[in-house]
Amino acid sequence: MIEFKDVSKVYPDGTKAVKDFSLTVQEGELLALIGPSGCGKTTSLKMINRLIEPSSGHILINHKDISDYKLSELRWNIGYVLQQIALFPHMTIEENIAVVPEMKNWKKEALHKRITELMEMVGLDPDTYRKRKPSELSGGQQQRVGVIRALAADPDIILMDEPFSALDPISREQLQEDIQKLQKEIKKTIVFVTHDIDEALALGDRVCLMKDGEIVQLSTPQELILHP
Ligand code: ADP
Ligand code: ADP
Repeated sequence: MIEFKDVSKVYPDGTKAVKDFSLTVQEGELLALIGPSGCGKTTSLKMINRLIEPSSGHILINHKDISDYKLSELRWNIGYVLQQIALFPHMTIEENIAVVPEMKNWKKEALHKRITELMEMVGLDPDTYRKRKPSELSGGQQQRVGVIRALAADPDIILMDEPFSALDPISREQLQEDIQKLQKEIKKTIVFVTHDIDEALALGDRVCLMKDGEIVQLSTPQELILHP
């Protein structure tokens, strides 16, 4: 469970990116953060894994302030899927997925099994793709590797920043389905940033609508459709 308590972020140049942001993301919930470009979605997301430090307020994970966790402990427990495809180009798909589990000293066999499962889950045939380099995959396939890499070490929380933005419509639809499946099967806590309302409505258990660094509306997709 993630709690934001009166969190604000003012950048050094004076930009007030996030203002008095208070919000609880329940365990196993997928929260979609939505709003126009520049409204503070990415800043809010990156504060959760301390890529950005809040100027004031507190963020708690499982009731403990994130600044009281060791940074490595915090980051290991949070999978992060970036907007841009960010696989290591010189490493194979398998090696890319293995980065965090290896830091956690997973055993070879367990890791091999895990990678096979994850690749099958997103429709990437392990025998065909395991040893390939990222450049030998399509953009959509690479983005799916980005998603399962974030899941590999079984983190409790997954942060996604417009993971579909670089994709064509068909890959986008497939990846959306993957994430819905993941959400149902493994019940992770997911915070998902998008500027696409259809995506937010389709994927979110709740949708948090932001504007100018503030929460304008926080509701279920059904409520948002009935009372826009
Ligand atoms: P998004 O696509 O989520 O809107 P941006 O393109 O706004 O993201 O930001 C991309 C990167 O540039 C981020 O790491 C962000 O911190 C940084 N950035 C955005 N706006 C500014 C700014 N005005 N000054 C400095 N860095 C910025
Ligand atoms: P979003 O993800 O909703 O597009 P961001 O969180 O990236 O919004 O940005 C919120 C505001 O903060 C924007 O006005 C952006 O220009 C500004 N911003 C983001 N990163 C930086 C930065 N590193 N320095 C200064 N301003 C920034």
